[in-house]
Amino acid sequence: MSSNSEIMARDLSVLWHPCTQMKDHEQLPLIPIRRGSGVWLEDFDGNRYIDAISSWWVNILGHCNPRINQAVHDQLDKLEHVILAGFSHEPVVALSERLVALTPPGLDRVFLADNGSSGIEVTLKMSFHYWQNKGRPKKQRFVTLGNSYHGETLAALAVGDVALYKSTYKPLLMDVFTAPSPDCYHREAGESWEDFSRRQFLEMKKILAEHHEEICGVIVEPLVQCAGGMRMYHPVYLKLLREACDKYQVHLIADEIAVGFGRTGTLFACEQAGITPDFMALSKALTGGYLPLCAVLTSNEIYDAFYDDYQTLRAFLHSHSFTGNPLACAAAIATLDIIESDNLIEKNRALSTHMAQALERFKDHPHVAEVRQTGMIAAVEMVRDKASREPYDWRERRGMRVYEHALKNQALLRPLGNVTYFMPPYIITPEQIDHLAEVAWQGINLATQD
Ligand SMILES: *Cc1c(COP(=O)(O)O)cnc(C)c1O
Repeated sequence: MSSNSEIMARDLSVLWHPCTQMKDHEQLPLIPIRRGSGVWLEDFDGNRYIDAISSWWVNILGHCNPRINQAVHDQLDKLEHVILAGFSHEPVVALSERLVALTPPGLDRVFLADNGSSGIEVTLKMSFHYWQNKGRPKKQRFVTLGNSYHGETLAALAVGDVALYKSTYKPLLMDVFTAPSPDCYHREAGESWEDFSRRQFLEMKKILAEHHEEICGVIVEPLVQCAGGMRMYHPVYLKLLREACDKYQVHLIADEIAVGFGRTGTLFACEQAGITPDFMALSKALTGGYLPLCAVLTSNEIYDAFYDDYQTLRAFLHSHSFTGNPLACAAAIATLDIIESDNLIEKNRALSTHMAQALERFKDHPHVAEVRQTGMIAAVEMVRDKASREPYDWRERRGMRVYEHALKNQALLRPLGNVTYFMPPYIITPEQIDHLAEVAWQGINLATQD
């Protein structure tokens, strides 16, 4: 039987891993996973890990979920894939009907891509193209938020603002307007989340007021900037943004790729602001984390601006080979069925309350600047100096020390810099949450010793 070291040796001689300095693996072992079950991952040496980050935020219902497995098996016996141009199939229709019914009112059309970044490209191209079709050729630019993340393909990277991923490629990227983030980590002492988010909106408003003639759309991650360190803000920002976008005739693009499907406490984060965006991108948890798929929802008003005789060349001629893959759609339908039938949005309330209690003691830790939480995302931010919030030098990679400690203690807690976060599958138990909190506590103590 294979062992971790055997698979690792084979892997490292042929693979190039995502988001990884491969040289790190001279010290840090790669962990080959043999099987998954519920929140657990098991490696080839028999070690087990609670998947506290839902395998990069995708797996909301556990690994090898019997009901999703069954749905994919059933679909596999009928149709594995078919071209979606000129052809259709039942799972893609059923899923699209379902998404239209579940998303905020006014999102009535579904375009499919096969991963999050591609879906973001779709929203940007559609928004730009809409204004072209409407006779507004000067509208060519996008507004983004500081510290935002929208994926790694070039246009998605251009509308993002995480320097670590972006700065090298700067010469290749389109120019955007960047408004300061409403991220409430930066609020003044005594200032509320709402007041800070309102204050940060003033700059956004100024950009829109001055440049709306040349702006297609504003793209945001509603409520939580996940890749930017699980930074969070108040829903009032989205409400103000919706009003301003209406006023200045600019699209509001909501990237709910990470926060959709119950992660923030509501099925979609936009619900907490009571808004409907012009475009909503959904991926990651959409298929329960089983298969790549992205759904871009938009309005019939936008759809109608492309609907014309072929010769006008107004059509949206964008495609991906695996657009609307039937297996992915079947996994997505099963995921939505389970969220609904098992009442998971309701049940998550108790779980997120439990997370909050389990993390309460971190607030007084001498090297923790903030414990923050929105629904089923909780984050602990380590700093060198608690009072001034002076961060640890990124080169010290203290978050990685927490990660390594966690791996030895049955937990996968992959950090974002100095932020340790918890974004578990919704099937996690209170006892498992307690275990994660204890392991993180020990890990943060170790990581902040010197
Ligand atoms: C992950 C993510 C993306 C990119 O999705 P991929 O499928 O990884 O390309 C885009 N936006 C947000 C907010 C994300 O978290």
